[in-house]
Amino acid sequence: MKMSQARLASCIPVPMDQKALVGVIEKAKDWALMHGVGMRDKKHFTKDSIQIAPFVLLPSPFPRTEFTKAVELQQVLNELMHKVAHDEEFLETTLQNALQVDEFTASLYDIWVTVRKEGIVQPISLGMLRSDIMLESRCPHTENQCAKHTPYCSWKQVEINSIASGFGHLGPISREIQSLGLFRSDYLMQEPDNNKIKQVEFNTVAASFGAISSNLPAMSRYVLRQLGHGDLIKNMPENKALSGLCGGITEAYDLFGVPGAVILFVVEEVSYNICDQRFHEFQISETRPEIVIYRRTLNEIYEESALNDKKQLILEGKPVAVVYYRSGYEPAQYPSSREWDARLRVERSTAIKCPSIQYQLAGTKKVQQALAAPGVLEKFMGGGASTGRVRDIFTGLYSLDFDDGGERAVEMALADAERFVLKPQREGGGNNLYGADVREALLRMRHSRERAAYILMERILPPLVSGYVVRPGGPVPPPLCDLVSELGIFGVIIGTKEKILCNRQVGHMLRTKLADANEGGVAAGLGALDSPYLL
Ligand code: ADP
Ligand code: MG
Ligand code: MG
Repeated sequence: MKMSQARLASCIPVPMDQKALVGVIEKAKDWALMHGVGMRDKKHFTKDSIQIAPFVLLPSPFPRTEFTKAVELQQVLNELMHKVAHDEEFLETTLQNALQVDEFTASLYDIWVTVRKEGIVQPISLGMLRSDIMLESRCPHTENQCAKHTPYCSWKQVEINSIASGFGHLGPISREIQSLGLFRSDYLMQEPDNNKIKQVEFNTVAASFGAISSNLPAMSRYVLRQLGHGDLIKNMPENKALSGLCGGITEAYDLFGVPGAVILFVVEEVSYNICDQRFHEFQISETRPEIVIYRRTLNEIYEESALNDKKQLILEGKPVAVVYYRSGYEPAQYPSSREWDARLRVERSTAIKCPSIQYQLAGTKKVQQALAAPGVLEKFMGGGASTGRVRDIFTGLYSLDFDDGGERAVEMALADAERFVLKPQREGGGNNLYGADVREALLRMRHSRERAAYILMERILPPLVSGYVVRPGGPVPPPLCDLVSELGIFGVIIGTKEKILCNRQVGHMLRTKLADANEGGVAAGLGALDSPYLL
């Protein structure tokens, strides 16, 4: 089935004049390099240089009301996840089936069981969270024109004239599309308000790009000024994610309250996304010069750290106050039992963990799916307005467990696989299945317990935007492409099971990918960094 997709207007008319485009890209690349919008080269890794991170030249449009809604919802979501992470019975029941077939989640779970049995020595946890959302384009047809009234309906052919009359103020944009020859009968210009935010996932571990994203609006402002559109800058929201996230780390540090204690960043063997990580270190060093930060891999933690008799984690002779994981979220980051031993040692210690193990479990896809089941949000949040606001951003999420309606979900997905995404309990991008692969996997797993390791999710169909993606080594000028965006809102929460000590929304990131790419992880090389331009 060919899906219909709506389109949002880009912030300035495209395609751009080729000469202007080449000129501004050269400037933007230098701006990016000189302000750390960069990454290490995966093919020719060296610590002596960075290259530009892929970025979108013009800030991508995002409806203002939906952006504000996402921002305002973050504290509610932070609190929800905090409660979920501290509800032992809920996590146990929810993850039970997945644990039987998913070794990685089971290993995390075992650590959680062990530390609970021994007694949790650090009741405070630090969450640096990112809620990821996409816009879902609503079908603009009236009920009598479109029986299904879902984003997946087959939109009827719409003449340019009828768009102009139906969406009068978008007339000039229609002309733009028409002149480009981009207009197709199944693309329809969309009013911003026809798009509603839907949650893709909730990240509780190593949520990245808060730092680089804080620099990006300045780059987009520079680009717009160079193109003679400085007047548009007012539509770009400030982004203070970096200072907000680092504020969370230092607040947790102060709660630990041991003079001379240090902060530990748990890092990968090779950090490609070095700028994003280092900016946190630079920021903390700037605001709190007395605090020492160490970077260590799990293997180095295994070799170099120890627990003292007070259960303090000791590194370089000093107690560790805060452990911030930028690694440890995927199986490849635990190549041997040493890494798992290191993780257990950290969890056993008095250090404040970001995230503590129960937070990582709460961030699994299975938990996301369980939260969408009837009555579950109410259990955590009561029946008030906030519960409705959270439910509103959920899209269809279905269990594949044998004892939880999984058979119905399998049948539904087999009947129309294009409508769904099949997701395992993994992080870091590139793990989900789409379209024909959903079908194939479900047929293969239909009678196997293995399917409990996955959840089924309705596919969100965001509106298209025309834009230019600038990549290291990519063509200049790049082609004008159809893109789709994913907005991430950052939150910081600190608290114990009983008490929340701090709960804030601290900033955002926007990632944009080619419309026909299934996934858009920037670190995974698929997406590009972007900034929202509010419509
Ligand atoms: P991960 O934890 O690996 O990042 P995600 O749930 O974020 O897992 O999925 C990875 C990517 O797949 C997302 O960034 C998004 O581009 C795409 N994706 C995930 N779920 C959906 C969905 N329901 N509809 C459309 N795209 C999705
Ligand atoms: Mg994730
Ligand atoms: Mg994701």
